Amino acid sequence: MKEIKFIEDVVLEGRRVLTRLDLNVPLDNNAQITDDSRIKSSLKTIRYIADKGGKAILMSHLGRPNGERLENMSLKPVSEALSVNLGKNVIFAQDCVGNKVEKIIYELQNGEILLLENLRFHKAETKNDISFSKKLAKLGDIYINDAFGTAHRSHSSTTGVPKFISESAIGFLIKKELKFLGEIVSNAENPFLAIIGGAKVADKIKVIDKLFDKVQTLIIGGGMSCTFLKAQGFDIGNSMLEKDSLNFAREMIQKSKEKKIDLLLPNDAIIASSLDGNSTRTIKLTEGVPKEWMILDIGPLTSEIFCNAISHSKTALWNGPMGVFEIEKFSNGTFAIAKSLAKETEKGTLTIVGGGDSVSAIKKLGLSGKISHVSTGG
Ligand code: AMP
Repeated sequence: MKEIKFIEDVVLEGRRVLTRLDLNVPLDNNAQITDDSRIKSSLKTIRYIADKGGKAILMSHLGRPNGERLENMSLKPVSEALSVNLGKNVIFAQDCVGNKVEKIIYELQNGEILLLENLRFHKAETKNDISFSKKLAKLGDIYINDAFGTAHRSHSSTTGVPKFISESAIGFLIKKELKFLGEIVSNAENPFLAIIGGAKVADKIKVIDKLFDKVQTLIIGGGMSCTFLKAQGFDIGNSMLEKDSLNFAREMIQKSKEKKIDLLLPNDAIIASSLDGNSTRTIKLTEGVPKEWMILDIGPLTSEIFCNAISHSKTALWNGPMGVFEIEKFSNGTFAIAKSLAKETEKGTLTIVGGGDSVSAIKKLGLSGKISHVSTGG
C-alpha cells in the first residue's frame, strides 16, 4: 500500500497545487451562504498553500446539478466568501476544465488562489470518468485532498485525479479528522456499534471492511441495505441495487457470521412506487417488495430494533441516512437514529456522527450539541 503523505511533507513552492475541498455549502434563494462551516474548516489548508508559495487551484462540488450548469449552484458566492475570510483576492474560473481555465492557471503567480467552478456541472465527475480525471489532473503538478465529506466517494476529483498526477497528499482537515477518528476507534469502549447508510455500497466498502475489525454490531440501512437484502435472497423490487457490490455484500454477511458480529439489516420498510411519496406502504421484507416499488426508508419495527441496539452500545458511530430523508415521508428512520444517538449521548455513550447527510439530519433536529463528535466528513 502507498504510504499516506500529508501536506507538510510535500514541496508546494512554485507548483500548481490542485486541491479538492468540500465547499458544498447551503445557499438560500438569493445565493447567500446560510452555513459557512465548510468554508471555515478549509481555510487552514488554503492559507498554508498560499503561504508556502504554491499556486492554489481549488476545486469542489456544490449540490447535485447532475451535469447541468445551474446558476443557483455556482461556486461564485463561495469564491467571494473565501476572499473575505482569507483577506485576499480569490480568482474565480467559470469552468473547472478546458482552455480558458488552463490559461488562467498559466498566468497564476506563486501564492495566488484560484477557485474552479462546480465540478458537478460536468456529469463525468460523479461517474469517475477517466478522460475527465485526466483533464483535471492536467491542471496541477501535485494533488491535495482535503475534502473530508467526499473523500470516500469514487468520483473523478477524489479517486480519479490522483491516478494521473505524480504526487498526492492529504490536507489539514482530513489529517485532523483521521487522527481524531483513529484515536477514538482504537480506544473505543465496547460494545462498539456502527450504523452505515446512504446510497452507495461501493463508496463505503473500505469503511465497512475496516469496521469489521472493531465493532460488535454493524447496522446497515439506507439505499445500500438493498444490495445486502438482495444478497440474502430478498425480493427488492425496483429498489436501488448495485450488482457489482453483491459479492462484497455476500462476503460481509459471511464474515459477520465467522467473527460473530451482529449484522443488522432492515426487517420492514417504507416502500413507494415513486419518489413523490403519494402512495406509500409499510411492509415486512419477508413479503418481498412488489415489482415496481422501491424501499425508501426503514420501517417502524426496524427503527425500534436499531435504536434498541444503540441503547446497548458504549460507542456508536453513524454515517449515512436510513432513507431518502430529504423527503419528509421517508425521513422517519433517519431522524429516529439521530434522536436515539442524542438520547444515548446523554446517558454516557460516546457518539460520533460523520458524513454530510447524517450531519445535516442532526442539524435539522437541532441536536448538534447533543452528539459527542460531529464530523464534517464522510
Ligand atoms: P451517500 O451520499 O452515499 O451517503 O447517500 C446519501 C443519499 O442516499 C441521500 O441523498 C438519500 O436520499 C439517499 N438514500 C438513502 N436511502 C435511500 C434509498 N432507500 N433509496 C434511494 N436513495 C436513498
